[in-house]
Amino acid sequence: MLKKPNTLQYDVPATAMIEAELPVHSEERKQQIIQQIKQHLKEQNAVLVAHYYVNPDLQKLADETGGYVSDSLDMARFGKEHPAQTIIVAGVRFMGETAKILTPEKRVLMPTLEAECSLDLSCPADDFNAFCDQHPDHTIVVYSNTGTAVKARADYVVTSSIAVDLVRWLGEQGKKILWAPDRHLGRYIEKITGVEMVRWQGECIVHDEFKARSLKDLMQQHPDAAVLVHPESPAEVIAMADTVGSTTQIIKAAQTLPHEKFIVATDKGIFYKMKQMAPGKTFIEAPSHGEGAVCKSCAHCPWMAMNDLDKLLHVLKTGKNEIFVDESIRLDALKSTQRMLDFASNQCL
Ligand code: SF4
Repeated sequence: MLKKPNTLQYDVPATAMIEAELPVHSEERKQQIIQQIKQHLKEQNAVLVAHYYVNPDLQKLADETGGYVSDSLDMARFGKEHPAQTIIVAGVRFMGETAKILTPEKRVLMPTLEAECSLDLSCPADDFNAFCDQHPDHTIVVYSNTGTAVKARADYVVTSSIAVDLVRWLGEQGKKILWAPDRHLGRYIEKITGVEMVRWQGECIVHDEFKARSLKDLMQQHPDAAVLVHPESPAEVIAMADTVGSTTQIIKAAQTLPHEKFIVATDKGIFYKMKQMAPGKTFIEAPSHGEGAVCKSCAHCPWMAMNDLDKLLHVLKTGKNEIFVDESIRLDALKSTQRMLDFASNQCL
């Protein structure tokens, strides 16, 4: 059974509009802001954890200040294990909430609290609870791109790096599985594992825009390129991939495959890390427009784009944008999130 998407419940800002509103600085002013941020991080015993999709300036700053740049699973692990008393999460809201779920004793700040995720927005807790109530005999597996209340209802949280392995493991035990919220990833997991799931039908507005026919044209122009695809993309795009994987797995593929050129179907914010980890190689954006459609995100998440140096400095100066989660739901969300970390560490429970 499929749960229909309720895409009318949220607005999606266009990335170009978000970027047009960001302040533009001279190189000298930018360096001043960066120096101030570094000073505040030090004085406040704070560490910057950034997602691969945010502005390269923020990723570079995290690298240079002993912070971390990674996917949501590793961001959560790093923040939990790092001794800093304040974690600054440059990403989207569920990532800040995940840090707080795991480390309630620490202060968690975000450059902006307006950075949402379409997967989170498409899966409101009340609707999700009603959906789960219809399937009481199912083990509930949710993607990390969900709010705290949805994680609290789940038995397991997963990221794209471990989703296939965890569902396969549950399937081997004969468990019936309810999956939420990403429809493309859910279908991909089913295909790879052979485990049928009851699926919610949300989507990532960035990956959902990748276009198969335009990708085929691009592949013909670059026959020597390997195609790397995130599994939140449509099935027809996934079917054309040389490698399907999480952001970290995509970067690893760029490092280890013999190709010199890659067509990449994920948020283009990842190119900063890919170029750093696989220097000298060429990376090309997979097409997100054409076939009668105009892109809105154009391969860059509008909510990730909201994170910038100015907002980061403001938060460090003012202490604003602290993340709080209700303690009663945090404890339930902690159980399912901790199972994710345990599974990722041990590949068994
Ligand atoms: S890229 Fe997609 S999955 Fe990631 S935060 Fe943006 S909308 Fe959510």
